[in-house]
Amino acid sequence: MINATKIKSDFPLFKRLINGKSIVYLDSTASSLKPQQVIEAINEYYTRYSVNIFRGVYDLSEEATVNYEEVRVKVAKFIGGKNENEIVFVRNATEAINLVMDSWGRQNIKSGDEMVATVMEHHANFVTWQQLAQLKNAKIKYLDINEDGYLKLDELASFVTKKTKLFAVTYVSNVLGTINPLKKIILTVKKINPEIVVVIDGAQAVPHMKVDVSDLGCDFFAFSGHKMLGPTGIGILWGRYELLDKMVPYQFGGEMIKEVTLKKTRFQSPPYKFEAGTPHIAGVIGLGAAIDYLEKLDLKEVREHEKELVSYALQELGKDKDIKIYGPKNPEDKGGIIAFTIRGVHPHDAAQILNNDNICIRSGHHCAMPLHIRLNLNASCRASFYVYNTKEDTDKLIEGILKAKEVFKK
Ligand code: PMP
Repeated sequence: MINATKIKSDFPLFKRLINGKSIVYLDSTASSLKPQQVIEAINEYYTRYSVNIFRGVYDLSEEATVNYEEVRVKVAKFIGGKNENEIVFVRNATEAINLVMDSWGRQNIKSGDEMVATVMEHHANFVTWQQLAQLKNAKIKYLDINEDGYLKLDELASFVTKKTKLFAVTYVSNVLGTINPLKKIILTVKKINPEIVVVIDGAQAVPHMKVDVSDLGCDFFAFSGHKMLGPTGIGILWGRYELLDKMVPYQFGGEMIKEVTLKKTRFQSPPYKFEAGTPHIAGVIGLGAAIDYLEKLDLKEVREHEKELVSYALQELGKDKDIKIYGPKNPEDKGGIIAFTIRGVHPHDAAQILNNDNICIRSGHHCAMPLHIRLNLNASCRASFYVYNTKEDTDKLIEGILKAKEVFKK
């Protein structure tokens, strides 16, 4: 079982007081906090072996290279990849999806082709494909949601056709919290057309539940280090090796080449042909420490802990008729994310009132404008839970919401 109170003590940020008060952090969907173990791993890299990888025969460079490459193996195992050559280090989930678009997309999508995404996508997995569609004069369709915030899967089989080349979907919605039944979705899609390339936005899944990309049967899977206790600036693209192997590099320069002459260049094999230039070595080292930390906690326990907090929040907030919650009401189908609005209170005002008590929630469209349009909203509030959140944090959230209601009572 997760002991969130004990876990909190690993996160130095919780030692901070703002205006004399402690911090209630409920915005891990945007970015998680970092435990001391991750900070120390980064610190150790910068203080003990802060040199470039691949470039030196000297011991320090060898040490940096070995530690960097060990994390690639660790990431592959962590998400059920077959081997480390399927792991490409990038800046974030956004860059991972852009890599697929820029390389696979430009190579393979042609005029008249069809692509399918969903209305619940984060802009990273939405705008990217919309742009590709415009660039290639291809068609893009968006699978809708029902009133409870689930994808309309009964429409999936008529949505995807033999002409569909790409299917892009999130594992967990960063607003509704919906956990999409990916295995079933991918089976349906691939049955219609086995050639369809399935791109999964896993940014809100990997930090919170056990993920197995091989079992899912997807082709590409993107996620970010900073949402899973790791540092900012490091993201991961997992791709099926056969696809990565056929793809052209999207950036050119050092480290991604095999041989360069005045006439032509031969590129390295994946993943190196996609990692031009000096990578974020400290970021990768920190990511490795974050994975160690999460594995020690056990992702199954992490999921159970968040489910408990979400159940409690749904139950308590559900009692108030002035609070509208978006997305599934069944905690089994919902990640640790609660998006809501309060009748008569603008989401930014609500977030401001909560901020007066150092309760950090998000307000706005959460980089999901098409979803907000679909929900007939300009903005919403979003509270999200992670390993360090306690039932007391949830109580403070509820108290804060009631306070906001009171302040704006007409
Ligand atoms: N997809 C989802 C579902 C997200 O929640 C986010 C971050 N809000 C992203 C993609 C983009 O992540 P990043 O900013 O780290 O690229």
